[in-house]
Amino acid sequence: MTASASTRVGFIGLGNMGSGMTRNLQKAGFPLIVHDIRRESAAELLANGAAWADTPAQVAAESDVVITMLPTPRHVDMVVNGDNGILSGIADGGTWIDMSTSVPDVAAAVRARHAHRGLRILDAPVSGMSVGAANGTLQIFVGGDADDLARVRPVLEAMGDPERILHVGAAGTGYAVKLMINQLWFSHLVATAEVLAVGVKAGVDLEVLRQSLMASPANSNFLENDVLSILDHGDYDEGFAIALACKDLGLSIDLARSVGVPTELSALVEQIYRRAKAQYGDTAGEMTPVKLYEDLAGIPLRRATNS
Ligand code: NAD
Repeated sequence: MTASASTRVGFIGLGNMGSGMTRNLQKAGFPLIVHDIRRESAAELLANGAAWADTPAQVAAESDVVITMLPTPRHVDMVVNGDNGILSGIADGGTWIDMSTSVPDVAAAVRARHAHRGLRILDAPVSGMSVGAANGTLQIFVGGDADDLARVRPVLEAMGDPERILHVGAAGTGYAVKLMINQLWFSHLVATAEVLAVGVKAGVDLEVLRQSLMASPANSNFLENDVLSILDHGDYDEGFAIALACKDLGLSIDLARSVGVPTELSALVEQIYRRAKAQYGDTAGEMTPVKLYEDLAGIPLRRATNS
């Protein structure tokens, strides 16, 4: 069955990302059934016609496609395999899409143990921050069977940019692509924070330094775009908590370990992130390591013209 406007979509995990994603599914007209351990997170969806389920099993039993958008692999495992988990409610041949930033282990174990049930399982993690979730412009990296993706594409298109919903390979590759994107972006962030702090401390005007770097082979998307929320507004993006960023960096290193590739740089970036988390708290924004360098240098990195 190819998804259509009557496809019942179940959604578990209504946090910074899930709240925007479900709002867009609702706007696109999909009947929604939702669950979260914080029932209050569903208030607006329920007011707009979504149905509430008390357990993940009930979500799965009452929907055609179940989506999870949860913090860590441990949460995904609990919601899928736990008491009243998805596996207790999903019909044979049913579809589960995990959009969390995670690792393949949970889905791989489900595939192995429940092979006889013909479940269709996709990993489809996203990029684009909570603002992309709210605007329906997420980039989605899908691992799994291409025909299964084709069937659920209309559901994903309600949450993401249709041009940037990419089939990246077999099961598990969506998670791997997402982890590598975050690893590189966090590495860009730390490297950029270091050079901006040093250059400004050495007497270069912040914007002159940034423009010089942008005009050089050292340019990056982070330098050109993402860093501006800090330089202009002192906003370190609390829409993505540093505790989750540390989780992603840990998973990235786990992945590197599992495939046997040494990643000294990634390990160092993870340590710097953990230092920032220890210093500023779990709920600080994902870009807080920049603040670590601002504090070390004793210089806030702010553009004079726009602050
Ligand atoms: P979040 O912490 O804001 O939301 C997670 C939600 O899951 C919360 O509402 C929480 O109550 C719920 N939850 C936790 N355990 C549950 C359980 N057992 N049963 C039901 N609900 C449960 O996290 P987020 O920022 O929305 O991130 C979700 C996933 O998306 C993470 O894997 C994260 O790495 C990834 N991600 C986040 C961003 C971002 O910018 N926030 C961007 C891309 C990817």
